[in-house]
Amino acid sequence: MEWIPVCRSCGQRNPGTWSRCPRCGGVQELAPPPAPPSLEGGEGLWRFRAALPPVRDEITLGEGGTPLVRCERLAARAGVAEVLVKNETVNPTLSFKDRAMALGVSLARDAGAPGVVAASTGNTAVSAAAYAARAGLPCRLYCAAGAAGTAKPRTAAAYGAHVEPVDGDFSSAHAAAAALEADGWFPLTTTFRNPYLAEAHRTVALELCEQTGGDVPGWVLVPVGAGPLLVGAHNGFRALAASGRIARPPRMVAVQSDACAPLVAAWRGGARAVTAADPRPTVAGAIADPMRGYEDEGLLTLAAIRESGGLAVSVPDDAVLDAVHDLSRLEGLLVEPAAAAPLAALADLVASGTIPPDARVALLATGHGAKEHGVKEHGAKEHGAKEPDHPTQG
Ligand SMILES: [Zn+2]
Repeated sequence: MEWIPVCRSCGQRNPGTWSRCPRCGGVQELAPPPAPPSLEGGEGLWRFRAALPPVRDEITLGEGGTPLVRCERLAARAGVAEVLVKNETVNPTLSFKDRAMALGVSLARDAGAPGVVAASTGNTAVSAAAYAARAGLPCRLYCAAGAAGTAKPRTAAAYGAHVEPVDGDFSSAHAAAAALEADGWFPLTTTFRNPYLAEAHRTVALELCEQTGGDVPGWVLVPVGAGPLLVGAHNGFRALAASGRIARPPRMVAVQSDACAPLVAAWRGGARAVTAADPRPTVAGAIADPMRGYEDEGLLTLAAIRESGGLAVSVPDDAVLDAVHDLSRLEGLLVEPAAAAPLAALADLVASGTIPPDARVALLATGHGAKEHGVKEHGAKEHGAKEPDHPTQG
């Protein structure tokens, strides 16, 4: 099987490209998806190398192979048969982004890129900085000037990355990062700009299959900015179903914040086009992606949701903070607010009858609460909503 980017707009095949279509600027996808592999030796992400785009030199910090935690108290409270939390917070830089960055930085080194570049002031920034250091590659990160002094950019700088503040919002940073690609810098912005990065998240599906003995939950709830985690996981489930290793792909539920939900708005409107959001401040900053300037990339996420039989929903900040509290106090899992959005959505989905009481549900816990969380020391909730100027594309 080959891994060749194909433009969704003009259909041109563009081998050896790492970004949008060189002919028309369209979003690219990799085709065809390969069959799932037999497992190889080692541990973590690269055990699944046969399901990933091939690389010559595998960069790793031990990413992947994350625990699947059965949460009986959360299941009882939500009124469903089973709640499983895929705990991505224990990755080397405490978020799921490490899967995509291990693959991306490996590809960058294979390509002989002079360095890697991303627009992010969140989990992507930290992960890109760590993996670039591991690979011996320079890393440039562009972020909105207002976010440059916050915890995640400062952490990225600790890994030696060059953090460049850009006047304006995330879209301005996005454009600045894209401009550096003309000099051969390898794009690691985790929207769908680089078609390879989402495919690293196939491994989430392969691990879930292995950890449940092939009896995967019927529903998978995912915090979503642009949606590459949801799409990559769905591609993995689809390949598993095609090979008969699971009965059918789970229904994928995209969960966004009420304050910034362009994909939910598009889903409600028939999912034919995405309109950039005008976001309000939210505690779930890691999924507050207005998608201005790359609205078309949202169509990939909407297509995966539709194909899986899922849906897109949004949640208010107070429900997100309650979910952070419940995950930490009831189950011992401290996550960042965006990572609690799926649990925040679960109660309404059960109450409305969308998810039945006999359902088994997996929640993807994407980022650790050590970087940010909404829980105060004495159990009261903080309400310090931040400006959503630094999405990290969940
Ligand atoms: Zn094209």
